[in-house]
Amino acid sequence: DRHNSNASGASGEVIDGDPNVPAFKIAMLGASGVGKTTLTYQFTTSDYICAYDLSLDDDYGQKTVSVLVDNIETDLEIIDHPACEMSTEAFCATYNIDLFVVVYSVIDRNTFAAAERVLQYLKENEMLLSRGAILVANKTDLQRHRVVTRQMGRKVAKEIACKFIETSSGLDHNVDELLVGIVAQVKLNPQRLRL
Ligand code: GDP
Repeated sequence: DRHNSNASGASGEVIDGDPNVPAFKIAMLGASGVGKTTLTYQFTTSDYICAYDLSLDDDYGQKTVSVLVDNIETDLEIIDHPACEMSTEAFCATYNIDLFVVVYSVIDRNTFAAAERVLQYLKENEMLLSRGAILVANKTDLQRHRVVTRQMGRKVAKEIACKFIETSSGLDHNVDELLVGIVAQVKLNPQRLRL
């Protein structure tokens, strides 16, 4: 019974003092400028899966989005990785992350290489054994400037064995689908959801 079993633990941690709502920590990783903040903001305004924004402010690069997962209200605590302030290693060690969303921009090869490095790091440190990851290729609206093809993204995702999606937060394309993908990953772990 999730009402009694959610008081503590590595994941499903209680936030906002409501012990009845399971919560998951979602890390937004990737180079600066790839669209992490924009994507996170769009999650909070998505009405696709009854998402609504619970945060009063996002001063700490953290937003909580409430979604229905199999009709159970679930909080997704989305933490934007402040790349300039903290290394990925320190960030992952500080927060007890349930799911990694690794973003790059299809118009910037360096951000793609950075995303690949982050995923390799997570894999090598066995952080993906019990946690999911999604590789996100953002800014697909800027077709004329694209330098990272869909195939390149797919290949890396296949090597890491993680999900892959192309989005445009500029055009709001596939952003709901990404959120659905995040929820799907959360659902993969019913124990964490404490159903
Ligand atoms: P962050 O540093 O990863 O959080 O990146 P931001 O969300 O702050 O975005 C950096 C810049 O890229 C901003 O000017 C955004 O408006 C822009 N941007 C984000 N996503 C897209 C996108 O999908 N398409 C386009 N054209 N611009 C985007």
